[in-house]
Amino acid sequence: MALQLNGSPEAFADALRGELGGRGWLIRDDERSGYRASSPRLEPLADFLSDDCRDVRGHEAVFLATGPVSGALFAAVIHRTCRGQAQGGLRHWPYEDVESFLRDGLRLSAGMSRKAALARLWWGGGKGLIARAPGPASRDPESRRALFQEYGAFVSSLRGSYITAEDVGTSPLDMAEIFRTTRFATCVPPDHGGAGNPSGMTARGVACAMEAGLEALGMGDLVGKTVVLQGTGQVGSVLVRLLLERGVGRVVASEICPIRRETLLDEWDGEPVEIRLSQPGDLGILGEPCDVLAPAALGGVLGPKTIPDLQTKLVCGPANNPLCDDERDAAALAERGIAYVPDFLANRMGIVSVCNEQYGSLREDPEVTRHLAADWEGGIRRTLHRLFQEAADEGVTTVRAALRLADRLTLEPHPIWGHRTWKLIESLAANGWASSA
Ligand code: NAD
Repeated sequence: MALQLNGSPEAFADALRGELGGRGWLIRDDERSGYRASSPRLEPLADFLSDDCRDVRGHEAVFLATGPVSGALFAAVIHRTCRGQAQGGLRHWPYEDVESFLRDGLRLSAGMSRKAALARLWWGGGKGLIARAPGPASRDPESRRALFQEYGAFVSSLRGSYITAEDVGTSPLDMAEIFRTTRFATCVPPDHGGAGNPSGMTARGVACAMEAGLEALGMGDLVGKTVVLQGTGQVGSVLVRLLLERGVGRVVASEICPIRRETLLDEWDGEPVEIRLSQPGDLGILGEPCDVLAPAALGGVLGPKTIPDLQTKLVCGPANNPLCDDERDAAALAERGIAYVPDFLANRMGIVSVCNEQYGSLREDPEVTRHLAADWEGGIRRTLHRLFQEAADEGVTTVRAALRLADRLTLEPHPIWGHRTWKLIESLAANGWASSA
């Protein structure tokens, strides 16, 4: 009864442990045009993936487990892995029910396939999830250490089919704990030999995309421009510094954290930067007149309620999924004559900067910096010009043009390993992964 989509993640985790020993999987079954489940008790979830998630179809597998001591619900959602192992950050979030938990993983892992493919990385798309328990336990350092070590052990059990990373609700310290129990992690702190926090690189990519976007619109460069930002966090704050270095005329930002606002205003004393203290849910900053609008806090902020009030020429920011509905809202922006840089192009440098960390790290790695250069076809600048051109020529949105190109690239097989990750997934199922907790 408790293995229900509309139940809480906690009740689901209890039932998964009590009835199925703590593990379960759903794996794509092309012969049935649906999904196989590790147990008949998980059939409703397999049906949900086949029938209700058509918008994000094509996932290869979902692995579910419970933390042996924490009792938390874990998932690794694997979208498409023709290009390589599934990679994507680990989200630690308080989900209301199992359906929203799964939907988030399905949507975000598909986004990671596209982001990696558009950047020509030899990685597939995945997403890790931990349903954050209600109450203070998630803030207690000891419980947190144990929780992330458990998640690392879960990732190890998947034998390399999913590689985890930092994401919303996880920190570099959490990644260090994960790294104690699995080698399949990126964003590992530099003192453990990893690439560390990618936010600075993400900001460099966004600044590059802004420049390319302005150029494509015939608006020159960033000098003298007004840029509006929602959020001045890890990416937003570095972005402001980069924009000042490039001679922007004015930055207007919003921030909900008063301490952060004060600290940053001190740092930029005398610079043309205004930071307005905002309340969660207050989207007023988006209607501020500007040349470039950069959503840099949350997703789902541009939709029918906000797009009519925008006073910008270009939307380009780091936030994942800033549109409430990709197709509808990209079209609404285009109708208003506002150019939109797809998020997974603008914010790719986070994943780019960590994807090769197992091969060692260079201070200015050409494998990374070529994404910012003008002479590489797969780089941000040339990809942006291509997408804007295709959108104009064919009367489609830049989102449609980007999805089309990315989806095509996700199907390219890895030049050395082919579709090896699918073999890993099949072998987990065939060798009793679900019954070996
Ligand atoms: P962050 O949590 O460090 O920063 C977000 C900031 O926005 C915080 O300072 C927060 O106080 C503020 N904020 C939250 N809600 C707000 C609101 N309603 N109005 C104004 N400010 C608000 O996150 P980040 O790492 O800087 O990432 C920003 C966005 O970029 C996120 O959507 C993230 O998913 C995306 N992203 C980040 C990276 C990366 O490398 N960090 C990579 C790709 C995408």
